[in-house]
Amino acid sequence: MSEREPEAVWGALADAKLAALVDLARAKSPFHRERLGAAPVLTRADLVKLPVLDKDAWMAASPPRSTAALTRRLAGAYVFRTGGSTGDPKFSVFSTGEFRAFVKYFKRTYQAAGLRPTDRVANLFACGSLYASFIFVNRMLEATGCLNFPFTTATEPAAVARHVKLFGINTLVGFPSWLLQVADALEAEGVGVEKIFYAGEHLYPDERRHLAERLGARVIASAGYAAVDAGMVGYQCEAAGPGAVHHVLADHAHLELLDPQTWQPAAEGLVVVTNLDRRLQPVIRYNVGDLARHVPGDCACGRTAPRFELLHRGDDALRIGFATLTYTEVVAALAGLPVGAVQLQRERLDRKDRLTLRVETREAIAPAAVVRALEAAKPDLAKLLASGYLHPLAVEFLPPGGIPRLPVSGKLRRVVDLAGL
Ligand SMILES: [Zn+2]
Repeated sequence: MSEREPEAVWGALADAKLAALVDLARAKSPFHRERLGAAPVLTRADLVKLPVLDKDAWMAASPPRSTAALTRRLAGAYVFRTGGSTGDPKFSVFSTGEFRAFVKYFKRTYQAAGLRPTDRVANLFACGSLYASFIFVNRMLEATGCLNFPFTTATEPAAVARHVKLFGINTLVGFPSWLLQVADALEAEGVGVEKIFYAGEHLYPDERRHLAERLGARVIASAGYAAVDAGMVGYQCEAAGPGAVHHVLADHAHLELLDPQTWQPAAEGLVVVTNLDRRLQPVIRYNVGDLARHVPGDCACGRTAPRFELLHRGDDALRIGFATLTYTEVVAALAGLPVGAVQLQRERLDRKDRLTLRVETREAIAPAAVVRALEAAKPDLAKLLASGYLHPLAVEFLPPGGIPRLPVSGKLRRVVDLAGL
């Protein structure tokens, strides 16, 4: 399908896929039959009649616990791990046919972002431990025709840098946290790259600047807004600008933004996704947990698919006392200080919350300077701290790379909620 077709063309395709998916889920999956009821679903507008998917109930009805959320026997399929690295592992299953079909959507999103068959690409996504990202991207690079360097996150950044130099690798793809580590090694080796495509985490403006300055990259783009459960939801085009504006991948995923209080459609709200092509384990009205806003008007690129701007990842926010603190707010508050990666941690001690900021820096900074900067930017938090409602804010300084990254993925957990486990 061409993304420049009139809305009626891809809209009719999306509606037909949706109606068939709901029929299949009702006919074959006991879990969905019960939750979806009998309301007719013929178009995307009918989705509001269906309940939002409850994540815990869905996982309880999914493998390995149950097959009630599946539409057929579990065979001829991939099992991927989904969700965080803590607590109970959760799994998403894709039939082999779905896996192959989804590669074409990856190909389309990477091409919209600027990947070309002539590119020499370091694939730095995570492989192993049932991670989906590397193997999807590996197949996408094959399908695109690129020169493919399958590093994964298991290759030391210094070794990646040496190969970038040896082979003239011009493109990096990976998770932002790992790309930032590799970028330091490339800088040390004295090499840059032309293009960087990221996925799996938000790339914050200071990190984007850091990558652009260190590596001289002229294209730094989201390779798509995707999650294992929801699939590929959105992509950036050449007119996206430096922010987090994406087009919906409208013939593959339907995106709704819902008010978190009323669960009604809103201009800005929680991202709720229906994947139109996941048929083995249907994903119908799935709350991804991220926040976004609709972007009105036509895009300069000529594509007709609706646009949204990702505001922050749901797992990048912390409830502290009765204030909400996001990673974005902390990074913005500390923008005047010479800090690198930051991690927010909440714990519960003697019935009070304690917030710890872990800050990577090469320089000596007074903890009070960090506290002052955050309090100035977050008066509601300052008030809670002053009232004794919270433990005093704790600040820990570490050298660059000092905050432990997650094994295999190399991702930085930006927000750690020890009280919420
Ligand atoms: Zn566009």
